[in-house]
Amino acid sequence: MNPLFASLPTTIFEVMSGLARETGAINLGQGFPEDAGPEDVRRKAAEALIDGYNQYPPMLGLPELRQAIAAHYQRFQGLDLDWQREVMVTSGGTEALAGAILGLIEPGDEVVLFQPMYDAYLPLVKLAGGVPKFVTLQPPHWRFTEEQLAAAFSPKTKLVLLNNPINPTATVFARNDLEMLARFVTKSDAIVVADEVWEHIVFDGREHVSVLSIPALRERAVKIGSAGKIFSLTGWKVGFVCAAEPILKVLAKSHQFLTFTTPPNLQVAVAYGLGKDDAYFAEMRAGFAGKRDRFAKGLTERGFSVLPAQGTYFLTVDIAPLGETDDVAFSQRLVLEAGVATIPVSAFYDRDAVRTVLRFCFAKRDETLDEALRRLETVAIRRNS
Ligand code: PMP
Repeated sequence: MNPLFASLPTTIFEVMSGLARETGAINLGQGFPEDAGPEDVRRKAAEALIDGYNQYPPMLGLPELRQAIAAHYQRFQGLDLDWQREVMVTSGGTEALAGAILGLIEPGDEVVLFQPMYDAYLPLVKLAGGVPKFVTLQPPHWRFTEEQLAAAFSPKTKLVLLNNPINPTATVFARNDLEMLARFVTKSDAIVVADEVWEHIVFDGREHVSVLSIPALRERAVKIGSAGKIFSLTGWKVGFVCAAEPILKVLAKSHQFLTFTTPPNLQVAVAYGLGKDDAYFAEMRAGFAGKRDRFAKGLTERGFSVLPAQGTYFLTVDIAPLGETDDVAFSQRLVLEAGVATIPVSAFYDRDAVRTVLRFCFAKRDETLDEALRRLETVAIRRNS
């Protein structure tokens, strides 16, 4: 057996969801919405399944979807993508990440990672033989500095894995953050893999800035997107990669032996969905922002310190002001005693973890959020007594 996988513990998401199932707790741990997702998009998928083509689609994805991806990113992010040479469909953001990491590094290459990091990154980097170099982000702002980048980069840096917006910290990097990063990437002659799956879920008038819109990164970056996040259909696992042709050619080789293709009916539906009018995307964004505000207000009223949440389905809470020092123990108490499952953010670090932050998913029905707040009241009451 491969020791890397044989020794991996079960992910914290499964542990907390399992505890939530066993105890009947409200699951604000794993990041999935309670809503069924846009009906017209689901109907398109159903129609294409019954009436459409169900054999292998083209390896790079259906032309209509690749065209829709290019048009969508032109409309929302001002990108000028050649759909035939620079766009490929994958089976979710996860496959796109695996393909990019396996396709772009060799054993011994250094890879810069920002902690806290999405849980798939490090095992994939290690599988590819990469040597991780960490930049550790700190609350409340979770931003990197020039000094941190200078310490992490070296002439051996071949890849940088950037998540923007970040799951779990809900940080949205601005253009000047990306420009600072670009200077280091260029100097090391490296490539950036930007996991932008949360690109549409940014709040308070923020714009998502893609790595591909930074001129210095246009030819040395991979942009990853996910229809699961764009349409709140997380089980669909339809992802996209966009990159300059020489990079995309290599990614197509790794894709051909990871999954080769992605279910064609879902591709037809995603192509349709990406063409929906601006109002759909604006309303989706406003809907999630409203949930964030409702939940953040309720938590604040109950004495929790809510950290800024600029995007994603998540908000984080600093438990240090409550006198707590162990996020894992506190999240276990919350699930067992209050009946609310969360994710301890220390699970997203390899080392030097911040141990006083919890992640809550607010992409739930208002009744669910209100019931969770009611249950959390008991925690607050106990604390104050
Ligand atoms: N990257 C990040 C940062 C994510 O949060 C997720 C989903 N939770 C993924 C990648 C995976 O995307 P997909 O479900 O499309 O594979």
